[in-house]
Amino acid sequence: MTAQTSTDGIRARLLAYLQTAGLSTARATANLDELEDAVREAEYRKRLEEPILRNCLFPGCLRQFDINATMSGCPTEPNRSAEGWKQVRPTVATGYVCPDHAPLMERHQPRWGERTEAGAVLTCLCGWSSPTARWAGYAVAAWQNHLIDTEEA
Ligand SMILES: [Zn+2]
Ligand SMILES: [Zn+2]
Repeated sequence: MTAQTSTDGIRARLLAYLQTAGLSTARATANLDELEDAVREAEYRKRLEEPILRNCLFPGCLRQFDINATMSGCPTEPNRSAEGWKQVRPTVATGYVCPDHAPLMERHQPRWGERTEAGAVLTCLCGWSSPTARWAGYAVAAWQNHLIDTEEA
């Protein structure tokens, strides 16, 4: 294989890539360096536009929003809009809640009680409290279960 044919092979692959990415191949005659620059730029732009999805913290909720589109100001699919989502930083669950669950989460913020020999208790703003737990994850799961109970009540 001569140096020329291998360069042609690379050029063909880069061109194919630009076409799949829906990009102009106007620079098809550009030299290999310029073509590589175009590919790098295309990849960078694609990454900027790729959705980065965040889930609702509410247990079992499947709603998501696109944090990347929100931050970059890019248009997003309507069902992935950040509108009405709230960021929460409670003790045990940090992340985002969807518009449906944001008001409920506001009324049910968890807080750790003092840790004793027997374990720790997680209390909720509404007055609920978890069983004393040796393992924190157990109290957190109990609180999540309490959220589901509250929503269904
Ligand atoms: Zn939700
Ligand atoms: Zn509660």
